[in-house]
Amino acid sequence: MKITVGHLYPDYLNIYADRGNIAVLARRAALRGHELDVQAVGMGVGLDSDACDLIYIGGGQDREQALVAPDLVAKGEAIRTAHSSGVALLAVCGGYQLLGRGYRGRDGSFMPGVGLFSHETVAGTVRMIGDVLLECEIEPGLTRQLAGFENHAGRTLLDVGAAPLGRVVFGFGNDGESGLEGCLIGRAIGTYLHGPLLPRNPWLADWLLAQALAHASGGEPPTLEPLTDELEAEAFRISAERARKRGGRR
Ligand code: GLN
Repeated sequence: MKITVGHLYPDYLNIYADRGNIAVLARRAALRGHELDVQAVGMGVGLDSDACDLIYIGGGQDREQALVAPDLVAKGEAIRTAHSSGVALLAVCGGYQLLGRGYRGRDGSFMPGVGLFSHETVAGTVRMIGDVLLECEIEPGLTRQLAGFENHAGRTLLDVGAAPLGRVVFGFGNDGESGLEGCLIGRAIGTYLHGPLLPRNPWLADWLLAQALAHASGGEPPTLEPLTDELEAEAFRISAERARKRGGRR
């Protein structure tokens, strides 16, 4: 099956190898006989909410976020429509911040957001940097871990009742206080975790692929054939160990 990915602002929002997440999705799809068709959706380019099965947006410095924010808001309706029609979505760090209601940057300027996620972000004076380990339960009753790297000034405050992606075991997460990280609404995931995230967390890559395949087929998320993932498991182990050594949250 062909999976169409709308990659928002690959030229502006791509730090800490966030583009690597697309490479992982493409490889894991191909190993199961599927094809990932990645469409770059940049400045001034409309997003066709019917054409995508998965939307991806990476992270970036405040400067790049300020440049894309007005254009992203103009795509807001299409993003919300896509989400409500079952399109999967992954938003990382700066992209995650701008899919909330907005981000007040370090210079005090307010960058409006899309309002898909129920949160707002305010930049603090000290950056939150380092390896992170999370516990999450995307599928009810199944607790799993995610490991990654965070580097952000923004403190993201989830609205009461908004579901986080996970609970911080080691690291700062959304705001360094709540013990929560990211945001989850149906098939949409927002997170501060760079790295890139998916090479060291292959189960999440497969979860996103399954959601995208469900949208493409109009059916249920399929169970994907397991892969050996030796390198991925080692990358996770090292990342989780670095987070553990870092200590912090717990
Ligand atoms: N510029 C934002 C912040 O500092 C996001 C950074 C990022 O994407 N890594 O919080």
